[in-house]
Amino acid sequence: MITPARRLTAACALGAALTACGTAPAPQAPQAVRRPTLAPSPAALAPLFEHGSRTRGRTVALTFDADMTADQGTRAAAGERFDNPRLIATLRRLDVPATIFMTGRWAEEYPAQARAIGRHPLFEVANHSYSHYAFTDDCYGLPALPRKRMRTDVERAFAAFRDAGVRRTVPYFRFPGGCHDRRTLETLASTGVTAVQWDVVSGDAFATDADAVARQVLDEVRPGSVVVMHCTRSAAPATERAVRKIVPKLRKRGYRFVKVSELIGAAPASP
Ligand SMILES: [Zn+2]
Repeated sequence: MITPARRLTAACALGAALTACGTAPAPQAPQAVRRPTLAPSPAALAPLFEHGSRTRGRTVALTFDADMTADQGTRAAAGERFDNPRLIATLRRLDVPATIFMTGRWAEEYPAQARAIGRHPLFEVANHSYSHYAFTDDCYGLPALPRKRMRTDVERAFAAFRDAGVRRTVPYFRFPGGCHDRRTLETLASTGVTAVQWDVVSGDAFATDADAVARQVLDEVRPGSVVVMHCTRSAAPATERAVRKIVPKLRKRGYRFVKVSELIGAAPASP
């Protein structure tokens, strides 16, 4: 299990600063996208997924949060880069499938990159909210979203993906900062999303030491792990270098990289 402090490092320290992912456009023909979800819980909560099976082979899902908050447009206009085209290019070169948790605001800022990512068979695009505001009151300093706006914030992100031309969207949602409680899961139940957390924190947020990030991931990955990383140059500058170290080492250990949808698809019917 990860501690709240480590969640901070990983998930959403990026709250105020984030950047994001990008890639050279290489549109491909749309293909059927596998979109398994977990069954809703009997308590009418959105289901929550943290990791896959520990006993069905060595699979691991690298996930990348493409963060940009609703009020960071001026920073982007001033030159701050919330994308990371080199990271996406590296994932493609190494043939590593990945799930990108994208904010709607990011898709608006980088529509060509969102579209390219969202049409490439290696990737699937999941929802990381539109605004990257917090879904609970106390979440690492992120502005809190009023409860009545939570569902529309999630839906607005999916709409932004559609507007950008993203096709390989999956109905998974990652809370900004990972911050959630029972009430937020209740609130989101009707959206049909599966909430996706993680069991391995890469520590890439604001990290400059790629070796340290790689070491942390390599120390913590287990079969079925979901690793949280970021796809943002300004707030996670070491991630691409860390990925280049992590991928060959995990493959040498017999791991196969998969998308979150494959882990969820292989999860037991009744979690
Ligand atoms: Zn985030």
